[in-house]
Amino acid sequence: RGDMTVGETAKLLHKDASEVIKKLIGMGVMATINQELDIDTILLLAGEFGVEVEVKIVLEDDRFETVEENDDPADLQSRPPVVTIMGHVDHGKTTLLDAIRSTNVTGGEAGGITQHIGAYQVEINHKKITFLDTPGHEAFTAMRARGAQVTDMTIIVVAADDGVMPQTVEAINHAKAAGLPIIVAVNKIDKPGADPDKVKQELTNYELVPEEWGGDTIFVNVSAKQRMGLEGLLEMILLVAEVNEYKANPDKRARGTVIEAELDKGRGPVARILVQHGTLKVGDAFVAGNCFGRVRAMVNDKGRRLKEAGPSTPVEITGLTEVPGAGDPFMVFEDERKARSIAEKRAITQRESDLGTNTRVTLDDLFQHI
Ligand code: GDP
Ligand code: MG
Repeated sequence: RGDMTVGETAKLLHKDASEVIKKLIGMGVMATINQELDIDTILLLAGEFGVEVEVKIVLEDDRFETVEENDDPADLQSRPPVVTIMGHVDHGKTTLLDAIRSTNVTGGEAGGITQHIGAYQVEINHKKITFLDTPGHEAFTAMRARGAQVTDMTIIVVAADDGVMPQTVEAINHAKAAGLPIIVAVNKIDKPGADPDKVKQELTNYELVPEEWGGDTIFVNVSAKQRMGLEGLLEMILLVAEVNEYKANPDKRARGTVIEAELDKGRGPVARILVQHGTLKVGDAFVAGNCFGRVRAMVNDKGRRLKEAGPSTPVEITGLTEVPGAGDPFMVFEDERKARSIAEKRAITQRESDLGTNTRVTLDDLFQHI
């Protein structure tokens, strides 16, 4: 049982059913025109086609209803890019994430205590960039498979003393499949055996050609360990963001994705969420996967309490009744009663589909590759 058929989805996306079926096969889903798709798959498809789809869950009978409700372009405001770092094991993903985070404690937020909330924001030239802290390839693929399109851009880290390795290629394939812009960070250039040009040469086999060789891929040489080249990397991210004009409407109920969640002994269920649309406020009633709640407290990655959080802001919230799953969609509703009944219906749907396949991502999956 699903939300819309393949045919209805094609109509919604203004595509031919055959195109949608082809895309589904590419995603590993064998489908016919009358097959029903769940909301996550529909969202994923929309992302694949680059179509903005607003999800509206209507509680009439037992069905969720999806309607197209494009934002008025006048309501859209530019938002920080959301960036993931991927690459082969030991090429320096974690070191790079840590180096960027600690280098960039600037302005009014200095002095805050860094909180691990699954993502963090840095600021350069008065512009923000959001980094996802969970670069696991599996987590990335699993989130995509669940319909969560959380990133705008991928940094592929390649160690200059090691070159292109299997997981480098995997990362490139993931990024390409998701249609994400790629920036290559050639890392460990401080090492004696470092050969950045060899990395560039190798990557031409994967259609990543540097600008100086007539291509359009941005390469940045860095040393995560020595903190060299980081500012240049951040500037390139902003450049790509400027070209792509990432925007969202901050003036509506929040919608986003659960990045991580866990049961905290003192605070109960805690979820780390990336707000993607609208603005999340303390007191908002929400659904996260099959769970519901009301935002009791909200903190950012600097440990600061927030009253509200706009698009591309990662926050940690308390006030849930249960622990949602990583990659679960997050949505604010007008009141807690509605949120609760939607969560309950989603739980039933999930139990039914669990009899088929189980695509829930565990925290182990998420951390396995960091
Ligand atoms: P990950 O598996 O991709 O997350 O890689 P890590 O960040 O854990 O780094 C693997 C190893 O490479 C660690 O011992 C790091 O200290 C080292 N490393 C990371 N970046 C650099 C760098 O720029 N230069 C040097 N010399 N070593 C680095
Ligand atoms: Mg790591």
